[in-house]
Amino acid sequence: MPHCHTFMARLRERGYRITPQREIVIEVIAHSGRHMSADDVLREAHKRAKSVNRATVYRTLEMLVEEGLATRANLGAGRVVYATGKHGPHLHLVCRHCGSVMEIRDAPIGPLLEDLRERYGFDSGPSHFAIQGLCRTCSEAGQKGAHNGGGNN
Ligand SMILES: [Zn+2]
Ligand SMILES: [Zn+2]
Repeated sequence: MPHCHTFMARLRERGYRITPQREIVIEVIAHSGRHMSADDVLREAHKRAKSVNRATVYRTLEMLVEEGLATRANLGAGRVVYATGKHGPHLHLVCRHCGSVMEIRDAPIGPLLEDLRERYGFDSGPSHFAIQGLCRTCSEAGQKGAHNGGGNN
């Protein structure tokens, strides 16, 4: 069974009403092997039906996140991306200076999540998050330029 069907069956079971528009949104994100912003989802959905609107996209994505079928990561500066649960736990390193984003698939976040569960009883679920900082290029440039006054706002 393709997982968009699994997703829909799960949502119906949980009492959500799956309209044809929501179905399209679910298919788009379920079949995408990559990250998508709500705008990406809307663009793809529009190729199939013009009746899908932004509100439906947001509501459907929230529904998937709430049910643990998708995860959301806030990359800062208004950029929010979604990935389905099958994408697995991973993190994004976001440079707050140049805005570059690196996706890290093999970061040792398993032990951290395990520790949070043990010590605080906090279950993070399928994880997908972002760490803000400076990328290598920007932090090296910052060090070089440290004595010419800096201040790059
Ligand atoms: Zn940078
Ligand atoms: Zn991600």
